[in-house]
Amino acid sequence: MKDDGTGPREASEYGTRPVAAEPVMSSDLVVVGAGAAGLYAALSAAAEGASVTLVSATPLAQTASYWAQGGIAASLAVEDSFARHLADTEAAGRDLVRRSAARVLVREAPARVRDLEALGVRFDADRRGVLALGLEGGHSVRRVVHAGGSATGRRVVRQLSALVVDAPNINVLESARAASAWLHEGRCVGVALADGRAVHARATILATGGAAALWSRTTNPPGSLGIGMSIAHAAGADLADLEFLQFHPTAVIGIPGREGFLVTEAIRGEGATLHGPDGERFVEELAPRDEVARAIARLLDETGATSVGLDMRAVDPSLFPNVVSALQDAGLDPTREPIPVSPASHYMMGGIVADTVGRSTVAGLYAVGETACTGLHGANRLASNSLSECFVYGARAARAGLDEPAGAGTIDPPTAAAAPLERPTRATREALWRDAGIVRTREGLERLTEDPHPLARLIAACALRREESRGAHQRADFSRVDPAFDHCHTEIGVNEEPRSAAWA
Ligand SMILES: Cc1cc2nc3c(=O)[nH]c(=O)nc-3n(C[C@H](O)[C@H](O)[C@H](O)COP(=O)(O)OP(=O)(O)OC[C@H]3O[C@@H](n4cnc5c(N)ncnc54)[C@H](O)[C@@H]3O)c2cc1C
Repeated sequence: MKDDGTGPREASEYGTRPVAAEPVMSSDLVVVGAGAAGLYAALSAAAEGASVTLVSATPLAQTASYWAQGGIAASLAVEDSFARHLADTEAAGRDLVRRSAARVLVREAPARVRDLEALGVRFDADRRGVLALGLEGGHSVRRVVHAGGSATGRRVVRQLSALVVDAPNINVLESARAASAWLHEGRCVGVALADGRAVHARATILATGGAAALWSRTTNPPGSLGIGMSIAHAAGADLADLEFLQFHPTAVIGIPGREGFLVTEAIRGEGATLHGPDGERFVEELAPRDEVARAIARLLDETGATSVGLDMRAVDPSLFPNVVSALQDAGLDPTREPIPVSPASHYMMGGIVADTVGRSTVAGLYAVGETACTGLHGANRLASNSLSECFVYGARAARAGLDEPAGAGTIDPPTAAAAPLERPTRATREALWRDAGIVRTREGLERLTEDPHPLARLIAACALRREESRGAHQRADFSRVDPAFDHCHTEIGVNEEPRSAAWA
């Protein structure tokens, strides 16, 4: 349905939205997910004059994008360059970064930041309007654009959502859940929703976020369950690199109401330090995330402690107002005492196999943002490259999707309401934490292959296949990098065993 802005509208958290109750709707593109990637893809397509249906399951504040603190990586500093951003991305990704995909990211990220400014996002800047750039782990130079200190995600998502509401050619279906891809003659021609409706489109863009909330201790909102990955896989699309799940080193622990609350790396970039139970520093705080997370896990293991202390007393609290106030609300005063932190599952590097315009292995089906696996993050994502990815690849997928054939004639809608996707039980989430945690063993992973949740089984199969330790994937039984796996990604098709494939 192309909404011309004159039809019925109802109040919503986005402002007002057109009401669309038809069982089968139609637009040029359907975008599933209203985080950074979905909102930006929808706006990019709408800017080309296309009609877009945006399907969003959860409220705005429950997207990972809304929770993002640190910012958006882009080589904007005078002393920075594409080559330097690429080198840092590749160093963090441990010989697994797909260079063609990372090159696209570093080249296009600065232009996407400028676009966001043109769209009304106000990033932190000095009096002359020069953007303030933060430093995060693994970056060799200040490169992270932020807004409201550590409220970057909230600011960006709010502004993009407001624009989406005002765009007459974007039809938002709030509280609507995509359940399956609508397939016709081997192509994806839209999505079937869980409530029985369907959206027909020349291209379908899955922007459904990551899967870190499958693990019991996480920094992510509860909806990050890899639902897009499950939908794509059920439609026949390949997934890849599911063994690479990044653990964030510094999530609050032991504080009711703030369990898993992330304390951004940017705070360490401003000088916060990590201390063991004896009060001593034990790790280079700005080393890549996997190293810091492992050092903390090792220390906790050795000492039996449940947390290490993050000391940010030397950091100006006005730089991170929302982190400081969230901690103070929970009864912790970071200006006076160290914060108890330990690692938590944070970011899924793997996902739906996607090329440099977001195309999956099923015609007409695209994936962008955290649900996609272009290979650009390799074995370990460089901090703040994920929001950049949402914007760079969101715009690319929108353009490419509009080039898909419109399809001839009328296609029968999906006949039955799609089966609801399986939600993980508490036992599955605990099993992932135990058996596919910071350090894995064959025994634990084999146990996980028996888990009732299909995505948990796929994660276990990929992690078993990779008999080495690299970046975020650490095996106690294969504790070294095996050069034979350099640039080899773990692909997994439908009803297939995982296979290793070199990606150009
Ligand atoms: C606490 C935290 C801090 C972070 N900080 C940073 C940072 O500073 N910089 C950075 O680069 N990255 C950061 N990240 C990672 C980054 O935020 C995410 O990778 C990125 O926001 C993912 O965006 P997305 O649009 O792909 O998905 P999300 O923002 O997770 O959005 C997913 C959307 O899909 C919808 N959805 C899911 N399933 C369905 C369905 N079946 N039907 C319909 N809709 C569906 C959801 O409702 C939601 O709207 C952080 C993550 C967290 C959790």
